[in-house]
Amino acid sequence: MANLLDRDIQFLPGTGPKRAAVLAKEMGIYTFRDLLHTFPYRYIDRSRIYSISDAVPSMSMIQIRARIFSCSISEDGRHRKRLTVTVSDGTGKMELVFFQGIKWLMERLKPGKEYIIFGKVSEFGNSLNMVHPEMDPVNEGSLNTGTGLAGIYPSTENMKKAGIGNKVFIKLVRAALDICCTDIRETIPHKIIEAHSLMPLKDALENIHFPKSLHELAKATRRLKFEELFFLQLAMLKQKYIRKSFSKGNVMPKVGESFNICYNSMPFPLTNAQKRVIKEIRNDLVSGKQMNRLLQGDVGSGKTAVSLLCALLAIDNGFQACLMAPTEVLAAQHYNSAIKFFGNSKVRTALLTGSTKTKERNHILEELEDGSIDMIIGTHALIEEKVVFRRLGLAIIDEQHRFGVEQRSRLWAKSVPSPHILVMTATPIPRTLAMTIYGDLDVSVIDEMPPGRKPVKTIHSTEADRQRMYAFLKSQIKEGRQVFIVYPLIKESEKMDYKNLQEGYMNIIGEFKAPEYITAVVHGKQKNEDKAYDMNLFASGKAHILVATSVIEVGVDVPNASVIVIESAERFGLSQLHQLRGRVGRDSDKSYCILMTGNRLSKEARQRIELMCSTQDGFELSEADLKMRGPGDLEGTQQSGTLLDLKLASPVKDNELLRETEKAASEILEKDPELSEPENRIMEETVSRLRHCRTDYSEIS
Ligand code: ADP
Ligand code: MG
Repeated sequence: MANLLDRDIQFLPGTGPKRAAVLAKEMGIYTFRDLLHTFPYRYIDRSRIYSISDAVPSMSMIQIRARIFSCSISEDGRHRKRLTVTVSDGTGKMELVFFQGIKWLMERLKPGKEYIIFGKVSEFGNSLNMVHPEMDPVNEGSLNTGTGLAGIYPSTENMKKAGIGNKVFIKLVRAALDICCTDIRETIPHKIIEAHSLMPLKDALENIHFPKSLHELAKATRRLKFEELFFLQLAMLKQKYIRKSFSKGNVMPKVGESFNICYNSMPFPLTNAQKRVIKEIRNDLVSGKQMNRLLQGDVGSGKTAVSLLCALLAIDNGFQACLMAPTEVLAAQHYNSAIKFFGNSKVRTALLTGSTKTKERNHILEELEDGSIDMIIGTHALIEEKVVFRRLGLAIIDEQHRFGVEQRSRLWAKSVPSPHILVMTATPIPRTLAMTIYGDLDVSVIDEMPPGRKPVKTIHSTEADRQRMYAFLKSQIKEGRQVFIVYPLIKESEKMDYKNLQEGYMNIIGEFKAPEYITAVVHGKQKNEDKAYDMNLFASGKAHILVATSVIEVGVDVPNASVIVIESAERFGLSQLHQLRGRVGRDSDKSYCILMTGNRLSKEARQRIELMCSTQDGFELSEADLKMRGPGDLEGTQQSGTLLDLKLASPVKDNELLRETEKAASEILEKDPELSEPENRIMEETVSRLRHCRTDYSEIS
């Protein structure tokens, strides 16, 4: 028999097709199960009743018990009606204000009658009021009153419009729990429940929605967090076990001529971290298993050098390698570094992007297919179907978060056996979180900067300091340094942002007049030739200033640049700010990051700016970022939405539990990688449901 939990939400008493559609659209609730897995984001102690004289506006939602003194309807200048209900509880008076449902309320609210009133207190003139509180007559045995902890559920305007306020939502959850009570089956084997002292699933669902006490709520929360993290790990680790035991990888045992030539002619010694990572990768390349590795390293830690050396390992063993970058500018830059780096070797390198001319492109495609090109560097153009390799052995993907999982898997299919995959990301993700997102990838970290880097002095400035800031830029340019000026470009408001950039650019060229100052500009709306021209102007040192959008210049390497000005810095997330800052401080001179913001900042924005000014440590910043924003927002990672579907658990805050669940999942899979033992079979259902939700995930692992 089908499980009741999978039943369509429209069949739950209290919903129907219309409300079901709203629940689906607004909350992603399609089934009874989805509803039961929509948890309160906080709880109100409904057993506590405040007296009006104790109420202050800073409180969150509170409950008072008061008698209606009077009701009156008034109209404002725009003919909007308002109902004002004055209540009193003997300690003081309070006004309750309603703008909607006035007629309905007037029919029901009775002066002299006593109500439990629940809402947020605010101050209006000299008196306290509540706008649209919930009201329940005392002694009518209402659902919400006097029963201890009550959940407050996430909600939207459209839900309220459809009549699904918090009270109704609670009723729906109650109904679903009652209907499903015999169908909530345990998802975790008894052994694990015991070993980790977990509350049974059924009790946990009951108590997360209707906690009997704070203690029970804590137990329920722990159980459900455990469940989320455990199954996430189990699903990912299972893929990894299967990949490790079944997938064949190209074996690359030789350390050959090109590697040695290039290694020995490097202008700098590798850092220990770089050496360690190369060893880790080399172990994978000789293992006979296909590599799937994430290389993390803070901006400027030298990931590119590492990846090029690895490409040489593949090439010396008779394979081809490719490096895919998110933008043309970056691809061109990697190409130039590669040409320099491969200098004396016989390695043949080519660049392929969207703007490669047809004739040249055809030539490159031919040479790729016949194997005369060893290394190809490019953009998305590399994953097009027409691109055929003779023997692709290693695919390197830079700034991984800009590529969707699906794109990765297309590279994957370019060769049989699949090429080894190395994805590099400069967005430093805490290790614990990386495990959760990239559980199927092995992770290497470059946790050491090349020597001689000076910290970037980070300063917060506002409009009032603009002239002083310009004077400072001029003094830096006088010393022979170059300057980045970056404008935010955030998709939804692209037009606006583009306008800001244009205006900014006009201001800059007005302030920094040619020919004394040369200013280049790079943005997404330019023709590729113009972009390349301006970029080159700056990279070659001919332009003093580069005005750019944040999107364009991720990863751009111009060591002579000593200042980066970030306009509207409050609009950037922490890790993005940090990445941008990494554009400077690349050689040993002193460098600066100036964060320009408006005068009025939200609390979060102020926190971000202050953090930026106080630390350079990318890992510290991204931990802080996650704590502030939550992993769902993990900026730029296209995976975050699909993979990190965690409702309760936070891979950062619930570190301990994350480790506990990882251990539990590994122990099971070590003995039974396919979860085929009878006692493990109950887990397979949840795992496959997870996999179903994350189809694109399983394709890549
Ligand atoms: P990432 O891609 O990690 O941001 P890059 O590979 O672009 O960093 O390296 C940043 C800069 O540091 C480049 O100019 C590179 O030549 C240089 N570099 C890389 N490794 C070292 C090293 N071990 N010592 C000194 N400089 C290095
Ligand atoms: Mg880089």
